[in-house]
Amino acid sequence: MKSVAMRRIGEILVEERPAPVPDKSEHIVKVLFCALCRTDAKIFVKGHRDLILPRVLGHEICGLDTESGRRVVVWPGVSCGICENCLDGRENLCEKIEILGFSRDGGLSEILCVSPGNMIPVPDRLDSSLAVLAEPFACAINAIEKLNLKSRAKLAIFGGGPLGHIIALIAASEKNAEIAIVEPDHWRAGSLEKMLTGKTASVVDSLEGFGKFDAAVTASSETGALLNAVSCLKLGGSLCFFSGLSGDGAVLEKNVFNEIHYKELAVMGAYGCTRKQMELALEIILRERVLAVNLISGTLPIEEAQNALHKISSGKGLKWLIQVQISC
Ligand SMILES: [Zn+2]
Ligand SMILES: [Zn+2]
Repeated sequence: MKSVAMRRIGEILVEERPAPVPDKSEHIVKVLFCALCRTDAKIFVKGHRDLILPRVLGHEICGLDTESGRRVVVWPGVSCGICENCLDGRENLCEKIEILGFSRDGGLSEILCVSPGNMIPVPDRLDSSLAVLAEPFACAINAIEKLNLKSRAKLAIFGGGPLGHIIALIAASEKNAEIAIVEPDHWRAGSLEKMLTGKTASVVDSLEGFGKFDAAVTASSETGALLNAVSCLKLGGSLCFFSGLSGDGAVLEKNVFNEIHYKELAVMGAYGCTRKQMELALEIILRERVLAVNLISGTLPIEEAQNALHKISSGKGLKWLIQVQISC
């Protein structure tokens, strides 16, 4: 089978390797699509906390379960199932979690062995090329759930990359939020405006003149976005700290903590997603499929995976899909 393996940081190769043999608890899944994201690009360029080399990347996966004959998306975690967080339905916080594409081989491979508990069936009316977005949609759902948004809540979103788009789409369409997205890049701002036509949404350079917000989410790794998110909130507002900070992220002004204190802000982190959030993601993608199509910038063959990662690193487009196998 064909696989894309990363042996060293910054270098991936398409190689033929023997198909993996499933253990008793696993099924063989033929991978149809694997979507790549900024995290994959980051792993490719500089590694990641959870990465173990050599590795097949890819954690956004839609495939065909050869035992049931059904199309499925794959929840990319392998959790213990018995720790407090697992039993609590927060399996993304399992202390023993292994993640496909990080600490286990992922979706840039024609065949993957997956246990049925990690598979979520794709609704018949949903194309695989959209279903493959279930994982990033579920991560966005995780962020939005943390905010406890009331209907017509004023929500500020910092960053208009793929996740900023998805958070905006769900908040505006499903939660009826009034949103403002801070995105200085011209192309991204235009793409957001196109996707959100007819919604209560503004795409802006800065929030000056907008008044205070009920909630904010950071979908940008800039420290400035986190500082601005804290400042834009009203007393008692909520903040979801969604994107990890890049580079000198540790350098934060003391003021920001005092502002959290004086305003009694509810601040929550969000990392990854649960199986349940992926199920919900498929329902939302199905309802919003006409808008969700706008997220896909291109579909490339497996040989072009490195090219796709370069495009993502340089900020070109939104979601890039790798079509791993063509037929069912
Ligand atoms: Zn991702
Ligand atoms: Zn666990």
